[in-house]
Amino acid sequence: MIKRLQEMIDGAQRLVFFGGAGVSTECGIPDFRSDTGLYAREYDGMSAEMLLSTSFFHMHPDRFYAFYRKYMLFPDAVPGIAHRQLAALEKAGVLRAVITQNIDGLDRMAGTRAVYALHGDVHENRCMDCGALVPFRSVLEGKGVPRCPRCQGPVRPMITLYGEMPDPQVMAGACRELSRADTLIVAGTSLQVEPAASCLSYFRGSSLAVISLEKTAADERADLVLHMPVGEVLEKIKIPPARTRKKGAWWE
Ligand SMILES: [Zn+2]
Repeated sequence: MIKRLQEMIDGAQRLVFFGGAGVSTECGIPDFRSDTGLYAREYDGMSAEMLLSTSFFHMHPDRFYAFYRKYMLFPDAVPGIAHRQLAALEKAGVLRAVITQNIDGLDRMAGTRAVYALHGDVHENRCMDCGALVPFRSVLEGKGVPRCPRCQGPVRPMITLYGEMPDPQVMAGACRELSRADTLIVAGTSLQVEPAASCLSYFRGSSLAVISLEKTAADERADLVLHMPVGEVLEKIKIPPARTRKKGAWWE
């Protein structure tokens, strides 16, 4: 079965990888949506969805940050084998983009450049008054609401909170990559969360592989379904020799 995936990767002209929580669980980042995950519990009578909503953030930023620092940030996490293999596939000229539902930033940390983080990245934090980028460390280590070093304005993480729309530019980029891909690997996600589910409809390529422990919405369409941990599968993939890209049109 992994041999079939290897053939799909070797034969791909434009490979895109669409990943979810299962890509990062081996790095010690829990699947927030699992049966025992963050969303399955209550916190002083409140759900994680409430605590991570845009209205709660604006009304109780200090309580938001207490929850956020405790449950959403994993500063010691480093990229796993899945992230590293994807970075290698990009370097070899095979992989065109990683689209991820994760906010952990581990794909960028592994060196992948074309990353579309649909729900943002905890490492990107901005002043709400002047827009300045604020270092992750000061959000992580600060107390209460982090403040902008330039103007003392409140800082927010550039992640999509409940009640907010994903960044339209990121969405457009992800959809563009999907619509141009000939091969797609969907991994570590059940595709139940929007915008992931509707994103997939942009893919019109010929080869679709799914790597997921649980059933996904893409299984029926898929040419190959592997019910295995993502890292375990990608670890066995041999990185093809670097391709020299054909000089394409200016938009390529
Ligand atoms: Zn500022």
